[in-house]
Order: sequence, then C-alpha cells, then structure tokens
Amino acid sequence: MISRKRILSGLARTLGVSLAAASVGAATALMEATPGKKDYPITPVPFTQVKVADAFWLPRIETNRTVTIPFLFQKNEETGRLDNFAIAGGLIKGKYRGERYNDTDVYKPIEGASYSLMAHPDRELERELDAMIAKIAAAQEPDGYLFTARTCDPAHPQPGIGPERWVEETVSHELYNAGHLYEAAVVHFLATGKRSLLDVAIKNADLVASVFGPEKRHGFPGHQEIELALVKLYRVTGSEKYLALAKYFLDQRGREVKLTQYPRGNRFAIYNEPEQIQAHKPVLEQDEAVGHAVRLTYMASGMADIAAIYGDPAYLAAIERLWANVVGKKMYLTAGVGSRHDRERFGDNYELPNLTGYLETCASIGMALWNERMFLLTGEARYVDVMERAMYNGILAGVSLDGKAFFYANPLESDGKFRFNQGQLGRAPFFGTACCPGNISRFLPSMPGYVYAVKGDALYVNLFVQGEAAVEVGGTGVKVRQQTRYPWDGAVRIAVEPESRSAWTILVRVPGWAGDEATPGGLYRFADTAPEKPTLKVNGKAVAVVLDKGYARMTRNWKKGDVIELNLPMPVRRVVTDEAVKDDAGKIALVRGPLVYCAEWPDNGGHALDLAVPDDAGFRSEWRPEMLGGVMVIRGKAVTRAGATGGSSASQAAEGTRSLVLIPYYAWAHRGSGEMVVWLPRK
Ligand SMILES: [Zn+2]
Repeated sequence: MISRKRILSGLARTLGVSLAAASVGAATALMEATPGKKDYPITPVPFTQVKVADAFWLPRIETNRTVTIPFLFQKNEETGRLDNFAIAGGLIKGKYRGERYNDTDVYKPIEGASYSLMAHPDRELERELDAMIAKIAAAQEPDGYLFTARTCDPAHPQPGIGPERWVEETVSHELYNAGHLYEAAVVHFLATGKRSLLDVAIKNADLVASVFGPEKRHGFPGHQEIELALVKLYRVTGSEKYLALAKYFLDQRGREVKLTQYPRGNRFAIYNEPEQIQAHKPVLEQDEAVGHAVRLTYMASGMADIAAIYGDPAYLAAIERLWANVVGKKMYLTAGVGSRHDRERFGDNYELPNLTGYLETCASIGMALWNERMFLLTGEARYVDVMERAMYNGILAGVSLDGKAFFYANPLESDGKFRFNQGQLGRAPFFGTACCPGNISRFLPSMPGYVYAVKGDALYVNLFVQGEAAVEVGGTGVKVRQQTRYPWDGAVRIAVEPESRSAWTILVRVPGWAGDEATPGGLYRFADTAPEKPTLKVNGKAVAVVLDKGYARMTRNWKKGDVIELNLPMPVRRVVTDEAVKDDAGKIALVRGPLVYCAEWPDNGGHALDLAVPDDAGFRSEWRPEMLGGVMVIRGKAVTRAGATGGSSASQAAEGTRSLVLIPYYAWAHRGSGEMVVWLPRK
C-alpha cells in the first residue's frame, strides 16, 4: 500500500500538480503496486500551491483561460475534430475530417482547461468537458482502441494509417495520439476527481501494453510523446507496466527498424526516414540532435523520466550529450530549435538561419519540458536558464496578446514577404495541423508549477514571479511571497514565513545572463561585460553572492518576517554568436534580462532590415505602458545601411543615422506584417 503522501510527491514531480485538488481516495484505489523505484531528487512545488499575482504572467494565463481555450473548443467544433469522435462512436453519421493526428487537438485544450479548473473552479467548463469526454469515450472500441481516423470507417482508413492497426505506426501517429490522451486524462482526473477520461486512457494503455513489448509486437512510436505520458499514467495509477512500456518504446527506438519504403515524393515518405524520427541509432547512442525538433525534445523529456525513475546513468549521459549538442550548436537565442522548414527539423551544427528558421512553438515548449526535467535531475540552474529563455521568448511569441492567433514558426527575422507561418505572414487563427495552439493552451496554465522546487530541507526559487506559495521544506510549512516587476525590473523581494523557527536552506537562482553567460553552452556570449553585479540582502544586510550550481545558497534559522532582496541589474546588453554561425556573423542581438529584443518596422520608419548598430552606440530602456500590453522598449541610434531596403526619408538617409526602437521579441507581429530583425549588423 502506498501512502497518499508518496502519491502526491510522486505526481508533483512531473505534473507540477497536487492530488489535494482531486479525489485522493480515488487515486489511492488506483494504486496497484509499490513502485520501489528511484525518482527525481528534486520535486517541483505543485502549481496549485503557487498563486500567481504577476503583472506579466497573470494576464497571459487569464487570456488563455477566458479566450484561447474557448476559442480552441470552438475551432475543434467548426473543423470537425470533435465530430470525428461522435462519428467513430456512432452518435452521428458522417465522414472523418482532417489529418490523422487531429484527435490530439481535442485532447490538448481539455488538458489546458483541466489545469485552469484547478486554479479557477468553473462548473460550466466542467460540464463542457464532460460532454466532450462522453464523445471521446463513445469513440473508443470495446477493446480500448481509440483512433478516430480508423474507427470512423475501418474499411476505408485515412491516408497514412495503414490497412490495419499499428502496421504503419511510424506514420500513423496512433501512439502519439494516445500519449496526448493520457496526459489530458491525468490532469482532468486530478482537477475534477472524475475517472471518466482516465478510465478511457487506462483502457487504451492496457491495450497498447498488451500489443507491444519484448515478447509481443515490436515497434516504437513514429512521433515521441507516449513515453512521457505513460510515465504520468504510471504516477497516477502506480501500475509499473506503463513505466516499463515507456522504457521499452525508448529502448526499441533505433533497433529493428523496418520502415515502409514510400516512393519518392510521396507525402508520407518523410515520416519513415530514420533520422527524421530519431530512429537511426538506439537512443542511448545518439549524441547529435537530428530530425524533427519536437520529436527530439519530447523524446529527451521521456528519457529524463526514465533516467530519474530507473536511476539509469546511461540515460542521463545520453540526454546530457544531446543537450550539450543542442545548446552548444543548434539553439537560437530565444531557446527555439529547429532550423529548417523542410521537415520541421534540426539543421546541421551551427546552421541557424534567421529569416528561414523554423523554431516551432511546440519545440520551444518541448525545450521547457526537457530543461525542467534536467534541472529536477541535477539541481543545476543552467537548465532553468534555458527554460526561462524559452518561456519568455520562444513560447510566448507563439500566441498573440489577445489569445486568438498563433505562430507555428517563430523566425528571428522577417522581410515582410516570406510567408513563414504555414503560408501566413502574421499569426494565424488556426492551422490544418494545429499542434501549437493546443500546446500553448496547456503550457500557460501549468506555468506556476515551474517557479519553485524542493529537495529535502532546501527550497529552490527558480523563476521570479510575483505571488504567494505554500510549500513544505524539511517538514516545515512555509509561506513564500515574491514581489517583483520582473522581467521589466530585476529587483525581487522574497519574504518567508515558516510555521516554526528552524534551519533550512533557500537556493535563489542567479541567472547566467545576470553575470557573463548569455546562454549556457557557449553558443552565445556577451560582447560587453556586466556593468553591475547581482546583489543580495537578507533583512536589509548585504550578503555575498556565492554561487553553487548557479544558485545563491542561504542556510539559516529562517523566521517569520525574514526578507531576501535579490537585485539583478538589467542593462541593455549586446550578444554575439559563435563565429561558426554564418548567419549571425558581424551581427549583434540586444537582450535585457531574460528578454530577447527585436526591431520591427512600425517603430523604425517602416523598415528594420536596413538598420545597423555601431559598437559605440548607447542604449536606454523606456517603459511604455500603453504599448503592446505594456513593454519596456529599448531606444538608441542606428545607422542606415547603404543598399538596404531604404530609410524613411531622404534627409535621414543622407545623414545615415536614425533613431532605433526595439521591442521584446514575444510582442512582435501585432501591428501588421513587415520587417523584423533580432540580429542587427554592427556595420
Ligand atoms: Zn506545433
């Protein structure tokens, strides 16, 4: 028998949620076996225990709850995605509509809505979910199979899914769809205590576990996702067969590859290229990130789970190698990955084009999921540095400020002509393949779960977000209050209120960018030195900032009313890229705190690609409350490049100088389409 506490902490590790919000009794009944396994040494503080009152994040989370999630539900109805379940279940007559992975577009906003329900109970939303789940349950075949692209009309299967179940899995996405079902089901159960969707997920997972395995059908998913989802299902049920299946799928990848050979030019041919799906080598032998970027980040996240729970050093070594390759050679400054539109894939080492870079929103989310897990395994702040870059830049750019338009691709440059966003120049309301909007809808409400973590008698403060948290550190209940205007201002006030006076440790992250590390891994470095260093005070008294794995460590007898003041100076800083990156040669990017900045046409005389920033140019920041939801802009002077797209007027062109205004990258493309640039020439 497993204690409730064990379930709670186990779940918190990868879900960032608390069973306290759900029916603990039901969860206890679900436990089948004692895991007897290791786990992540560090546990995130569940997001249900973190109340965000932050001027930056709260509006985005609220817009997600009140606009994006209902909008996605509406799109799922309009485009037949929800009807596919009703048709498969015989509730209505009709034909399957859309791509074979469209079931996931229904699952993901259900997961997002479930996260939202935990912070904001909402009877009506819960009823809406009940109605959707009834259709999903109806679509499930008696033995547990759930894949509407086949069940709607098994005699005439959709293109790419094969004539029978599983025979074309690397193309069909049957297991990818299942993974998103499990993730949604687990969060829905935790939010509502209802087993309706969880039972559907378990029935499906039991079928998958009965089909695939060492002595059964051999195979692995074409698109990774089910691995990390099976781990979540294991955490909520305690059933080790899900864990074993997750490991089996990872271990099987890159072995016994029998992929259908499609003729050249066939639209499915790309799904069966071993490198594209990271099946060119066993996962433990991979040391370069190749192929489809989202697949790789999900795979690495699943591998981190296995590394933690099995305590397998080979798994840890493999993801550390992949991580070093990604952050050292293949990551953009926004922590986006995936250089090529062609096959949504990683490019070669140092291949980081700006105009044609892909940087799928889902891949940035994948980077956050992966880097969070790397932190939980190692306690190293550099992983949180990457996660933070992804959150404030690569991910947040993926959704408009009004919550109703989305980027699939997130390039660092636009010429106002290249239609980089699935054929659009700006954010689009929806896509034929709509993975990114749903992914945003579930990431944002889970974001408070990334702020704090606990290991024994130590509390990690990872992100700077105004609000309150109730945590347990070394057996003592502690209230933590953060006050900050981050990311606009680096002053962070952390007040602690322990139940009783006792000795424990607070580890406050001092981001690499606040010192001399633009990003971990060395691909990007500052072209200047920090004019001021971070400072730390406890109860008004200066304390030396001594870093341990990137954290300022403070152990003392903390008492009610103790206050830590961290000050992270936020000057505008110049970043350059390793010279092996040709696309950024002779260029700088400007950053301020965790934010990457860009010059966009409306602020710069209608153009941005003609600007150059000399090394002696100075910059200042200016708070603009009325602009783009409130942003700190960067102001300075630029010179106009001869032969570029032209200055705003003849006199300015003759002078060769122009005022320069930069905005945070996440806020671009809200004022019509035109030029935008992150990497500015120095001459
Ligand atoms: Zn996507």
